[in-house]
Amino acid sequence: MSSPAADVLKPDFAAARRHFIFTEEHDRLRESIHAFVTRELAPHAEDWEETTFPDWVFGRMGELGLLGLSYPEEYGGQGGDYYCNLVLAEEMVHSNCGGLAMGVAVHTDMATPPIHLFGTEEQKQCYLVPAIAGRRISCLGITEPDAGSDVSGIRTRAVRDGDEWVINGSKTYITNGHRADFIVLVAKTDPDAGHDGISLFLVDMDLPGVVREQRLQKLGMHASDTALLSFQDVRVPAEALLGQEGKGFYNIMWELQGERMIGAAGCVAAAQKAFDRTLRYASERQAFGRPIGRFQVIRHKLAEMATDIEAARQLVYATAWRFANGEYPVREISMAKVYAARMACRVTDECLQIHGGAGYMKEYGIERVWRDMRLNRIGAGTDEIMLEVIGRSYGL
Ligand SMILES: Cc1cc2nc3c(=O)[nH]c(=O)nc-3n(C[C@H](O)[C@H](O)[C@H](O)COP(=O)(O)OP(=O)(O)OC[C@H]3O[C@@H](n4cnc5c(N)ncnc54)[C@H](O)[C@@H]3O)c2cc1C
Repeated sequence: MSSPAADVLKPDFAAARRHFIFTEEHDRLRESIHAFVTRELAPHAEDWEETTFPDWVFGRMGELGLLGLSYPEEYGGQGGDYYCNLVLAEEMVHSNCGGLAMGVAVHTDMATPPIHLFGTEEQKQCYLVPAIAGRRISCLGITEPDAGSDVSGIRTRAVRDGDEWVINGSKTYITNGHRADFIVLVAKTDPDAGHDGISLFLVDMDLPGVVREQRLQKLGMHASDTALLSFQDVRVPAEALLGQEGKGFYNIMWELQGERMIGAAGCVAAAQKAFDRTLRYASERQAFGRPIGRFQVIRHKLAEMATDIEAARQLVYATAWRFANGEYPVREISMAKVYAARMACRVTDECLQIHGGAGYMKEYGIERVWRDMRLNRIGAGTDEIMLEVIGRSYGL
């Protein structure tokens, strides 16, 4: 029996693409974040590239509930699931301002999660609650001038003195370091104990001895502030210890998993945005009597990019699903992080190429995303470190 023509299966390229990890509620959240980001943040992107973004962004996002999407309501959060954080990271890309997205992600997904998971009730009231409300800005201090990838090689020391700790050392490349009200600081409490000699501290940035040194100039992410900080005999109370003494290395490794997931989600969203823009350009730009997208070489570049983005997206979402369901999939998170970061660099590089000279010009926004994306292969664990984690997970 032959089927009527209407029953013939045809590819539906325009089908809705909501992934199974998301619900209608996530779609509504996405729409509202998108509206806020495009109306209130994106119009300032050019200015903020020059000046760094202003602190009021935190206040405004706190007011809208966007700084605590997955934190419990008792701390001022929205009580949402982990995927809400992914939605925020993806939608922040539409600010066209990588430095802004990073500054916010440091606050929501890097500095505050350890307070929520390891903090005492007092610490949560003092730091987490105002951070969620956007009244206090946070930063995270792991990297030092002499130790980045090798976290156990840090030299910042915290020495117990009666009821206090005395902190000495320096931290570099610290995002939000100039604007932050407090820092989640990684320090050595026992230099002879290896990984067991590292602890975390909550340090107010207005304490005597905390010095915000120069604002570092960088290749991309210009809207963020990046600081060199020094700590000179900074005295904090015993209660400033975050989590158990000697467990800081393991706790910061846990933090880095969330940081890597959020970074990977941001890479996929940024690559998708650059792709969409480039697809439009390739359909409009004419050369040799036809839109450049009609040249097979360009069409194939776009096809390769779309495939690359989709592969990264599936890896990120599948890993997020495991993470959200209580697993600790460090190998897959490392895979998602290194794959998404490299993919975003490949894709934005091809997008720039397809734009020709226009890609090199500021007004098209492609050169900026190309510069901004490069950080993802370095920050939160370099490509090489991710490959080490993956390789070693096989017992090598
Ligand atoms: C814009 C920006 C913002 C940042 N924000 C923050 C922040 O807010 N807080 C913070 O703490 N840090 C931050 N960082 C620091 C970032 O996480 C580090 O730069 C990163 O972890 C790499 O450390 P490193 O720069 O010291 O490089 P190094 O560790 O010195 O590495 C140099 C090179 O050696 C390679 N390498 C090192 N060890 C190995 C190995 N075992 N096997 C193979 N290759 C290896 C690395 O992959 C890299 O290619 C930021 C960095 C930048 C650029």
